Amino acid sequence: MFLDAPRTPLVRRDLDVREPGVDEVRLRVLACGVCRTDLHVVDGELTKPKLPIVPGHEIVGVIEAIGARVSALHLGDRVGVPWLGSTCGHCRYCARHDENLCDNAIFTGYTRDGGFATHVVADARYCFRIPSSLGDVEAAPLLCAGLIGYRSYRMLPQARDASRAPNLGLYGFGAAAHILAQVALHDHRRVYAFTRDGDVEGQRFARSLGCTWAGGSSDAPPETLDAAIVLAPVGALVPRALAHVDKGGVVVCGGIHMSDIPSFPYELLWGERVLRSVANLTRDDGALLDLAARIPVHTTTHTYALVDANRALDDLRHGRFEGAAVLVP
Ligand SMILES: [Zn+2]
Ligand SMILES: [Zn+2]
Repeated sequence: MFLDAPRTPLVRRDLDVREPGVDEVRLRVLACGVCRTDLHVVDGELTKPKLPIVPGHEIVGVIEAIGARVSALHLGDRVGVPWLGSTCGHCRYCARHDENLCDNAIFTGYTRDGGFATHVVADARYCFRIPSSLGDVEAAPLLCAGLIGYRSYRMLPQARDASRAPNLGLYGFGAAAHILAQVALHDHRRVYAFTRDGDVEGQRFARSLGCTWAGGSSDAPPETLDAAIVLAPVGALVPRALAHVDKGGVVVCGGIHMSDIPSFPYELLWGERVLRSVANLTRDDGALLDLAARIPVHTTTHTYALVDANRALDDLRHGRFEGAAVLVP
């Protein structure tokens, strides 16, 4: 399914599969999640896609062709392809192991064709093995919603008060938050879920996963937050989160795109509060996949046929489901 121009529907096109390059593998796609970043590409909010582009960067597939230099993966392996498609390996960010910040990175479903397709060619060095206990559809949302959420989570400070397990606020309770909540609860954190105001169904969903409290994003949580992660693309949530975070606490912005953050009084940041973003992922963040299998994390998914990709994107745009949408060819 191709995007020819921003703000137009994806169109189906039947093409021959291509052979992988020396460092590449070709996968038969088993499932591909639909991420909010795909919406940002389709809606023209991320402005530099290769066009036409096949979106999709939460790909689970089985290897059916392999490049001459690939030795770590084999025919028949089931692997995941994430947003980070490849990096240059020699810029100053790559040199200091910040490959997520690479100046020359290639992104799956944005600057190289992604997984809204029956087949995809990927750089083998950036693929992840999928633990066998995770189903194809179940694993797909882990590959971006999960990885980016986990990267945000890794930016939280360690608990320094042994008498009290830290808590965590999650602003925006979509695909990433529903995975992250399970990871945080596994770490004995109390999790406070903030949905759109009035989203009773979303709050019920958050509580069903074990969140201690769920309310609207205008509501005050029952206690001060040690940290908050903002996963909705809404800049107005940033000062709201800061207002509820304790001195020394952290607010992490997990999304790739956000509406403008309104100005706010310095007092909200005072007290050594930290406001930061996370960008993309590194291959180290792939540790989430084994962790998710161990906990185990259960993803809530809504499957669509590949040809219904436009409907899946529209349902995501309008928040018509809980959890994550996944396309199945
Ligand atoms: Zn680089
Ligand atoms: Zn994504």
